Amino acid sequence: MSHFEVIGGALHAENVPLARIAEQVGTPVYVYSTEAFREAARAFRKGLEPVGRHHVAFAVKANPNLAVLRLLANEGFGADVVSGGELSRALAAGIPAHDVVFSGVGKTRKELHQALDAGIGQFNLELEEEGVVLAEIARSRGMTAPAALRVNPDVDAGTHEKISTGKAENKFGLPIDQAPAIFDRLAKLEGINLRGVAVHIGSQLLSLDPLEAAFERVGRLVAELRAAGHAITHVDLGGGLGVAYKPGDVPPTSAAFGEMVARVTRDWDVELMFEPGRHISADAGVLLTEVLWVKPGVTNPWVVVDAAMNDLARVALYDAWHGFASVTPDGGTMVANVAGPVCESSDVFLKNREIDRVKSGDLAVLQSAGAYGATMASTYNSRALVPEVLVSGDRFEVVAGRITAETIMGAEQIPDWLEP
Ligand SMILES: *Cc1c(COP(=O)(O)O)cnc(C)c1O
Repeated sequence: MSHFEVIGGALHAENVPLARIAEQVGTPVYVYSTEAFREAARAFRKGLEPVGRHHVAFAVKANPNLAVLRLLANEGFGADVVSGGELSRALAAGIPAHDVVFSGVGKTRKELHQALDAGIGQFNLELEEEGVVLAEIARSRGMTAPAALRVNPDVDAGTHEKISTGKAENKFGLPIDQAPAIFDRLAKLEGINLRGVAVHIGSQLLSLDPLEAAFERVGRLVAELRAAGHAITHVDLGGGLGVAYKPGDVPPTSAAFGEMVARVTRDWDVELMFEPGRHISADAGVLLTEVLWVKPGVTNPWVVVDAAMNDLARVALYDAWHGFASVTPDGGTMVANVAGPVCESSDVFLKNREIDRVKSGDLAVLQSAGAYGATMASTYNSRALVPEVLVSGDRFEVVAGRITAETIMGAEQIPDWLEP
């Protein structure tokens, strides 16, 4: 069920009226529902019940807020991190180091050291040289790094080109046909325990077919590696499950995903790993905003809101679709465009769409904003960094404060030699 419902004419997050949050924290502000995260996390785990031994790591990049990570840690989730900063966050949130997987195509030597120091559970290697360097660093410190090889199965995820990662031309993973030779060479090195393979083909997948094709391809690789004498104990199947952003989107359920995985991996005899991000967090958040003006347009009016592309970049970045709803819907609708105040023509959230009727001063939300929302925010146009609020029942807390332009300016310097 949705945890953002209209109760007595006003949109609430769980039992908290959004108007109360706007009044106390200001807008724009991300509002998350604890129950929504929990429900998605539990449904995902339940969906995996038919699957053998497995481990779930939340893709931190989808929503790295410390409170969110703690909430998911309490649900038994580990973390999939893609930077030293995300690793620090996962640990600060109380996720045990051995439940952390480190992905990413550009890990620095410093990050490899940091992750070894922390004692993370697995490094997902993206290229042979990375494995050589990791082995060298670990060996020089008398350690052995647990690692898997990320392969690129050359499968079209059928998703937006900018969130597709599993085609041969993408920068991610090793070409799967080269994986056996590279695995052979890396497995011989002292300093790493190369124990498996990893795959992640893209995000916002609305069909299980490309995932199944990729997993089958990985299954054949596992058999091939074993035939070559390698012990394969871990396979990381990545993330990518989509969510319903717009009417007509029908994402696979956690149960359907689990059933497919159980079927495809039945004979693998490995510990499986999963890295869901969006599927756990997207529907747990909205971006709450105030309508500043309704400006007449040539065809439709422009609803100018106080949230902008710097607060929610997905529309400008990926042509993403977000629902828009009034916090005090009166049943009326209007056909309009919704845009933010930033001086860029791409700062438009939606165009020519029928939406709840709104006027200046009304509050509204951009829906399904709990994934890849606040984490991508910037201060472009010297706007404040957007705050985040977590609701639970009838209480709420600011879990990330607004960072003002003044604070940002505090880190800037005018050099002496520019004194007039
Ligand atoms: C981004 C990412 C994920 C999470 O993707 P979602 O589509 O949010 O589930 C998982 N694994 C890796 C390696 C990623 O880069």
